[in-house]
Amino acid sequence: MTQEELFKKLIAHCKEYGFIFPSSEIYDGLSAVYDYGQMGVELKNNIKRYWWDSMTKLHDNIVGIDAAIFMHPRVWEASGHVGAFNDPLIDNKDSKKRYRADVLLEDWLAKQDEKIEKEIEKGRKRFKENFDEAQFRATNPRVLELQARRDEIDARMVKALNENDLEGLRQIIIDAEIVCPISGTRNWTEVRQFNLMFDTKIGSVAEGANTIYLRPETAQGIFVNFLNVQKTGRMKLPFGIAQIGKAFRNEIVARQFIFRMREFEQMEMQFFVRPGEELGWFAKWKETRMNWHRALGFGDDSYRFHDHEKLAHYANAATDIEYRFPFGFKEVEGIHSRTNFDLSRHEEFSGKKIRYFDPETNESYIPYVIETSIGVDRMVLQVLSAGYKEEKLENGEERVVLAIPAPLAPVKAAILPLVKKDGLPEVAHRIKDMLKYDFNVQYDEKDSIGKRYRRQDAIGTPFCITVDHQTLEDNTVTVRERDTMEQHRIAIDELPALVKSQAGMRALLDKQSITR
Ligand code: ATP
Repeated sequence: MTQEELFKKLIAHCKEYGFIFPSSEIYDGLSAVYDYGQMGVELKNNIKRYWWDSMTKLHDNIVGIDAAIFMHPRVWEASGHVGAFNDPLIDNKDSKKRYRADVLLEDWLAKQDEKIEKEIEKGRKRFKENFDEAQFRATNPRVLELQARRDEIDARMVKALNENDLEGLRQIIIDAEIVCPISGTRNWTEVRQFNLMFDTKIGSVAEGANTIYLRPETAQGIFVNFLNVQKTGRMKLPFGIAQIGKAFRNEIVARQFIFRMREFEQMEMQFFVRPGEELGWFAKWKETRMNWHRALGFGDDSYRFHDHEKLAHYANAATDIEYRFPFGFKEVEGIHSRTNFDLSRHEEFSGKKIRYFDPETNESYIPYVIETSIGVDRMVLQVLSAGYKEEKLENGEERVVLAIPAPLAPVKAAILPLVKKDGLPEVAHRIKDMLKYDFNVQYDEKDSIGKRYRRQDAIGTPFCITVDHQTLEDNTVTVRERDTMEQHRIAIDELPALVKSQAGMRALLDKQSITR
């Protein structure tokens, strides 16, 4: 199965089992907007809890807030979003399809990297154990040619983006001979800037309508509350403010399912530090955040850092954590050293002093900021695409299983009476009542036990607890584990401890490293 086929199956699976539906589906959907179903919302809430607890419970110096989506319009002038939150757009005149110029170029660069990797694979096969990759890269004419061209286009792209040179961007697309994937032609329009913010009106027209924006990031809600939190929480530097909430961007290229949405959710944390100490903190947060991802157990080589060459004007360091999705390595989280840009701008635009008085140095200053910013929906996609597996069983049957980390699973345990009679359902209901206050559990008595196992595998339930006739005699049940499909008997009394030890959030939180 190709990665593309796998991805299509995953999307179908998400719908079939109540994880994710297209928005307003009975009206044929709304592009790049999705709804989470009964399973999806549980998974999403667990991911949010994992992040929130890692930030606020494991760090004494990080607190959370929940700011409004609507903010004063001046906020977005101060932050630079009104003037510069743009994507460079280009249209193909034949297919009439619209693309982001930078994405077209990045896809082209990724293709060159793949070509180089293929050459290296060929070399490895040819020279077997004598193969020296570094030497091959340095001497093979084909690799050298591909690499030189790739690097030249990359350098020109970074320069054009940094200088906002739209004509230059177009020229690079033409020079790289990029064709439209739909029409196959190189008939491109000019490159134009397109602002990604949605706007709407606040107040009735009679009062004088005012344009306001749906926030394109949650971070500004933290910046404008910096002093409120610092003062009321008596926070001392360094300290952080965390927030989870919706953000909205009028994305031009809406594809790849929930990877790029117009309405999505972010988990952002701004960590305020002394000026001059930001790069040390940046390095620490890179490590802490990478550990958070790796604790999920999807394999360390499924992640990589992508350090930014093109830095936003306010940043002095930036990196992305990329995950290997079925469609390639893509950003799930950004870590940015944002200097004192945002707080300074809010000071300037609001006319209010936003300073921190440092009792250790007796100075007042505007703190510097390290930001960690991660998309909830991209995390959902990461977890689902890592977990989705089609397995052939020994008896020749197939099963689809979502092998997702147990603490994130929507349902922790299913309680299944072997038959619908003889008092077994009553016992199963009692077990359900015992577990339901601490865990999301399901009772299921329909169909054969095998079919019920398959249903639970498909939604990623770590434990199936079967009540049979022996239960009536000795108060034990069979526990069947999702990944190994192994079964063992345990006493009913031991169930809460078993589920908690493996499916409680603590199991993931214990693997965290703390940034101090
Ligand atoms: P991209 O380059 O993919 O557009 P970005 O660099 O603009 O992303 P940031 O502004 O750094 O993204 O936002 C932080 C995080 O928010 C991203 O790492 C991503 O996980 C998430 N995110 C951003 N845009 C979207 C979107 N349209 N849909 C879903 N998640 C998003």
